[in-house]
Amino acid sequence: MHRFPKILVVSILSLLLALSFIAVACTPASPANQEAPSPAASTTPEGAVSLPPSPPGTINTATGFISPDQLGTTLVHEHFCFAYPGWFADDTIAPYNREAALQTGLKVCETLKSIGVKTVIDPTPNDTGGRDPLLYKELSKRTGIQIICTTGLYTDAEGSPAYWKTRMAFMADLPKMMSDLFIKEITEGIGTTGVKAGAIKVGSSPKMTKYEEAVHEAAVIAQKATGVPIITHTDGPSGGVEQAEFLIAAGADPKKIQIGHVNNSDDIKYHRAILAKGTKMAFDRIGLTILYGVPDDITVQNIATLVKEGYANQIELSHDTVNFWIGRPIEVPPKAMPLFKDWRIDHISKDILPALKAQGVTDEQINIMMVENPRNLFLGK
Ligand SMILES: [Zn+2]
Repeated sequence: MHRFPKILVVSILSLLLALSFIAVACTPASPANQEAPSPAASTTPEGAVSLPPSPPGTINTATGFISPDQLGTTLVHEHFCFAYPGWFADDTIAPYNREAALQTGLKVCETLKSIGVKTVIDPTPNDTGGRDPLLYKELSKRTGIQIICTTGLYTDAEGSPAYWKTRMAFMADLPKMMSDLFIKEITEGIGTTGVKAGAIKVGSSPKMTKYEEAVHEAAVIAQKATGVPIITHTDGPSGGVEQAEFLIAAGADPKKIQIGHVNNSDDIKYHRAILAKGTKMAFDRIGLTILYGVPDDITVQNIATLVKEGYANQIELSHDTVNFWIGRPIEVPPKAMPLFKDWRIDHISKDILPALKAQGVTDEQINIMMVENPRNLFLGK
């Protein structure tokens, strides 16, 4: 359960939207990655584009495939846009302002460039709101930041399970149906966008539900078929061990699993229990202390301790920022603003890495967490 009323959390998160309208000039740049060759792409009567296969061992980004060595410094969990399901019901008076989302995204990408980040994984699920592969493509083309889009489904409580549950009631093979979707988006592309997903996103409640089990099973089927990593959302200060056990038992490669949101918890024993499963593990809500109340200095201490214990090659860092909220703005209580100040795209680079160094973490170990581990997540190393 959340320790703070969700409405307060949402209110605070919306501050970022308000702050993000500061105009920043952008310099167009050429991304290093390759466009998927368009001549071989085929189009269905419905307009869905089917792209040719990416070469083995490459990673799908919004602008085409790259080699794992091109990833560089990577933030493994950030959202350019996000909305909770139901946003479309408000679309009449609060439609998706794509131009505003683009301007915000450009500013974010310029900040990322200024701090040396080369790649962002945006794990927005298919069934919330805000996954916009063409936006990622445009941002990437204009700024050079590489963006990896995911395919996947969110939790029972905060995704859109009704569509799938209707089929569940008719005894459909849900993991098969879901994995068909995931595999198509990874191998052929997402709808009419001509963008392929590069990873699979799943999420679970504090205790995994039947529906979420189907999503996790589908993710493993899709990983076995495509080789891409699975990135998770845990919905509380627990659930990571259960996710790792479920995915591994279903046949996933532990080294290609990233258990997420582990700094929802301040319990280092919980972190060690996940690491013991051999997966990657992401402290990917750094700065988002309001959600579960774990201060960043406790998280820094835990990371430094785990690195000293030899776990550097399994740990990744990110913020889980939402840089543009779709839907109507929400009034933010001014007194809540300070709680939100560190939830920003450059917090790790500017504040957390120096704090880790002060705790004895070396530059080499930081490079392992920020560069080598994201790469190895895709390589299965
Ligand atoms: Zn997220």
